[in-house]
Amino acid sequence: MKRIGLLTSGGDAPGMNAAIRAVVRSAINSGMEVFGIRRGYAGLIEDDVIPMDKMSVSGISARGGTILRTARCLEMLEKEGRERAVATLKKYGIEGLVVIGGDGSFHGAKCLTEEFGILTVGIPGTIDNDLEYTDFTLGFDSAVNTCINAIGNLQDTMLSHERVCVVEVMGRRCGDIALYAGIATGADAVLLPEEPFDMKKVAAHIEETRKMGKLVNTVIVAEGAITGEECAKQLKGLLPYDIRFNCIGHIQRGGTPTMADRILGARLGVRAVELLGSGVGNRVIGIRKNAVVDMDIIEAVSLQKTFDSALYNTLQMITM
Ligand code: ATP
Repeated sequence: MKRIGLLTSGGDAPGMNAAIRAVVRSAINSGMEVFGIRRGYAGLIEDDVIPMDKMSVSGISARGGTILRTARCLEMLEKEGRERAVATLKKYGIEGLVVIGGDGSFHGAKCLTEEFGILTVGIPGTIDNDLEYTDFTLGFDSAVNTCINAIGNLQDTMLSHERVCVVEVMGRRCGDIALYAGIATGADAVLLPEEPFDMKKVAAHIEETRKMGKLVNTVIVAEGAITGEECAKQLKGLLPYDIRFNCIGHIQRGGTPTMADRILGARLGVRAVELLGSGVGNRVIGIRKNAVVDMDIIEAVSLQKTFDSALYNTLQMITM
C-alpha cells in the first residue's frame, strides 16, 4: 500500500492528535504517503484533503481537539454521499483509510468497505467509552480526569457552604464517565443509565451522611440517566439543604490529553498503519488487558456494550 488517508469523525476527544501523529509518522517511516481529510466524512465528500508530512504533526500530542477538525455528516448516510466520498479517495489514489471516531464513524467505514471494497481501519476516538470490543476508548481517561478536577473544585466551595452538589457529566447512553468520576471523587450517589435509581433513596442516603457529620454531598449524574437539573429539582423537594446544580459540559471534551490517552493514541495509530501496510483492512483496533488488539469492524459495531457491574459494586462498597 502506497497511499493512505486519515480522518477524525463524530465528537472530538483528547488524544486524537496523538493518534494522528502516530499514523502520519509511522506511515511515512514505513514508506507510505499520507493524506489528511479535514472535517471527517464531510471533508471526504467535499474534497477537503491535504498532504501530510512529518512536520505537519510536530508538537500536537499535547493538544486537545483534533488538528484535522471533525464533523457530523448526514450525506454519508446516503449512498450518493458515499459515492462522492469514494470518488475523492480515487482522485488522490488513496488505497486505505484510517477513521478515528466512535461507533457512528465506524458504521461509515463499514459502508465504504462493504459497498466499495475500500480498506478501512477504525481507531476508537470518543470520550464516552461506549464500545464493547475495547477496554478503553481514546479520550475517556482525559475526560474523566477533567471531570475529577472540576468536581474537586466544586467540592471545595460546596463544603464551605455545606451544600449538596449535583454534577452532570457526559457519556450519552453509557455511564462510564460518571462511574469512574464517582469512585475517584468519593461521590455519595452516582446515577447511571445502566442501573435503576430511586431519588427518595438518594435523599435518604444524603440525610444519613449528614447525621454522621458530613457537611458536603456530591451526586454525579450521567447525561443518559436523568438531567442534572431535574435531579437537583427533585432533591430540592426532598431535602432541607442548599442544593446546587452544575453541568461540566464541553469542558470535559477539551484540554491537554493525559499520559494514558497520548500513549494509547500512539499505540493504536501505529497498529492501524501496520494493518493497512500489510494489506489488511475492515478492522477496528482497541486495547484489551493492556494489549493492542484488532477485530472485524462489522463484528465490533454489532456488539452491545456491557456494564462493568464489578466496578459498580466497588462504588457501592466504598460509599458511606
Ligand atoms: P461520538 O461517539 O463521539 O459521538 P461517533 O462516531 O459515534 O462519535 P456519530 O455522529 O454517530 O459520531 O457519527 C459520525 C459520522 O459517521 C456521522 O455524522 C456520519 O457521517 C457517519 N455515520 C454514522 N452512522 C452512519 C451509518 N449508519 N452509515 C454511514 N455513515 C454513518
